[in-house]
Amino acid sequence: MRIILLGAPGSGKGTVAEALRSAYGFPKVSTGDLLREAVREKTPLGLVAASQMGQGGLVDDATVLALLRERLSREDCLGGYVLDGYPRNLAQADSLDALGLPGPEIVFDLRVSDAVVVERLAGRRTCPNCEAIYHLANKPPRKAGVCDVCGTGLVQRADDTPEVIRERLKTYHAKTEPLIARYSAKASLHRIDGDGRAEAVIREVRRVLEALLGHPDGAGH
Ligand code: AMP
Repeated sequence: MRIILLGAPGSGKGTVAEALRSAYGFPKVSTGDLLREAVREKTPLGLVAASQMGQGGLVDDATVLALLRERLSREDCLGGYVLDGYPRNLAQADSLDALGLPGPEIVFDLRVSDAVVVERLAGRRTCPNCEAIYHLANKPPRKAGVCDVCGTGLVQRADDTPEVIRERLKTYHAKTEPLIARYSAKASLHRIDGDGRAEAVIREVRRVLEALLGHPDGAGH
């Protein structure tokens, strides 16, 4: 089973992907995480990606597809996975279809208002080591500034500044939002109200998944 999470930056894709990983064991395949890893490691691909990410635009399709293909070829993806941040435009959705991946495809569209996005991203802190996600007000770590999972010092992502957030929202509306119509037409799309608290959003996603598949961990994983 392939679960695709659509939604604006800050809509909760990473948080939902992590919850599905922890509940059902589906690996979280996040192109943002893969790109940040390449940037940290200063791979040739990472060096190209860094400037595109810093300006709030999209990294070019070929670069992202190369990273994604490599990640999906690993053994943990055989039984299914959650795609967080891919596809992000129509060409990427075509590329995903062209991969001819087996199994059903379930798409969730996490709907959030732009005002909620700005508030969430401004308060977001992340772990640069394991990519765990926190929020200063809504989900503070147990010890201020330190990751609960691995003990690394938390950081504010370089693209979570007001100026870059505005650009990322523009990119989302122009390039990614049109995917909603595409996946609605394929009838695999489920709209989720993403404005509420994380627990409520996760509960709703799990309710839909379990209604569709019984217990997803018994359905091909
Ligand atoms: P995210 O962690 O999903 O918010 O992604 C952070 C940044 O990585 C985005 O603003 C883009 O610059 C880049 N990025 C992530 N996923 C993709 C993708 N599928 N296509 C192009 N760029 C991406």
